[in-house]
Amino acid sequence: MNLRNFHTPLTEAEVDEIYQLFTPKQRQYMDAFTKRSKKSKWLEVLALKKGIIVTEDMDTEQLAEAVDDWVLVEILDGGRGNRPFRCECGMSLRYQYIVTHKKQNKTYKLGETCLENYTHLTSEIIRDIRKGFHRIHLERDELLLKIYRGEKTDIKEFAGIEIPPSYLVQIEHDIPLLDKQLKKLHDQLHAKRMEELQKQHQAERERLKEIFYQSRQHRVSKSYTAPYYSYHSSPKTHSHLCISYEELIERHLNELKQIRAKEELIPAGLRKDWDIIQDIVRAAKRREKFDYSRFKRTGNTKLYKN
Ligand SMILES: [Zn+2]
Repeated sequence: MNLRNFHTPLTEAEVDEIYQLFTPKQRQYMDAFTKRSKKSKWLEVLALKKGIIVTEDMDTEQLAEAVDDWVLVEILDGGRGNRPFRCECGMSLRYQYIVTHKKQNKTYKLGETCLENYTHLTSEIIRDIRKGFHRIHLERDELLLKIYRGEKTDIKEFAGIEIPPSYLVQIEHDIPLLDKQLKKLHDQLHAKRMEELQKQHQAERERLKEIFYQSRQHRVSKSYTAPYYSYHSSPKTHSHLCISYEELIERHLNELKQIRAKEELIPAGLRKDWDIIQDIVRAAKRREKFDYSRFKRTGNTKLYKN
């Protein structure tokens, strides 16, 4: 058999040939698949034309009710080389379309060419329905070829995502999934993985933020007990906080002089601060390490404002 691509449907002979290889279970599913697809395609085309919104939870009955027009009940197939059915016009048929109109309480059994005449569905609708049937045949053939090649769908591959029940029924009948069905599942799988990855990254970011925050807290609390460490470890404030005795005097001589001049006026509560400042100045003079930020803190807040 010449196995071409899915752009044209298989010939009748090819379909028959592959059908011979099927188990009864597979054959039953494939027959039902084609019939069901055609019925719902018919309704879909009419619904679309009439602006009816088709939701997934609508069953065929509800949709037929909403469409309120000629709907397809059944397509009978007399088999290759046979014409056992008859159209309303008298012509003998292999394929017979049974269509019904609930409100008009009418049912017709027609050949494809008479569909338009009897139902008065527009030629545009009939054309769209035919196009839809063609696509259904392509899908049927895709499945036939997949089965012919022994392709199987491994459902385990899609663990963790929601698989539509109709897909499961298909797989239960030993029918592999169509490429478009597989793509839908792969897309879902991909989206789920991306979501998980994003969650992972988010958690990682939170963790890093926590570590950063903790280490900063640690530094802050350290600088409380050891101020010297803080400005000597921070390059940014180094030049500002680590100054010489000469610089200290140059910057603060006037203030120091002013305080000294009114030394006896310093209130009792601030005398200790003045002692601290003098100790720092003396330490600086001795070229010892001194706490300049403490010098500024003590002076700025209290003494200089006196
Ligand atoms: Zn006819």
